[in-house]
Amino acid sequence: MSRVVVEFECFYDKRGGQIIKELCLMDMDYNVLMHEVYKMPPTQSYPKKYSQANSYVTQRLHKLQWTEGDKYWRIADIRRKLSGLLCQIKGIQKYVYFTRLLPMLNVMLLQTPSYHQLLFTRTMNCKYVHGNNCALKKCCAILNYLSIINNIR
Ligand SMILES: [Zn+2]
Repeated sequence: MSRVVVEFECFYDKRGGQIIKELCLMDMDYNVLMHEVYKMPPTQSYPKKYSQANSYVTQRLHKLQWTEGDKYWRIADIRRKLSGLLCQIKGIQKYVYFTRLLPMLNVMLLQTPSYHQLLFTRTMNCKYVHGNNCALKKCCAILNYLSIINNIR
């Protein structure tokens, strides 16, 4: 089964759950299979506490704006793209979120050091150029780590 690295950045939806804003899928040779920045859902409006949480991620973490994006989120597109692949995800929270969202997929939790310890030297920028909290950059950093580990073994 071919392996892919899955990374995403989120906003909080109006019920306080997370919703994927940026998604990146890369194969083990650094080929980008999918990279999307999703538009704000048309019916979205927030209670104050979630709009504050979203201000935080906009200003401090991934720095994407809700209004930015190329298309609307469609789970069927992601399911279709990932079916038959082994999805590798870093971080227990993202793993749990993703396996609940798409329970029919093959998903594996990656054990890696924190992002602060991963190498961001060989990475690509996505077109939004929004710092290291970018799903595309994080995919590259994970692949950098996996390639080092695989060469050592
Ligand atoms: Zn990005």
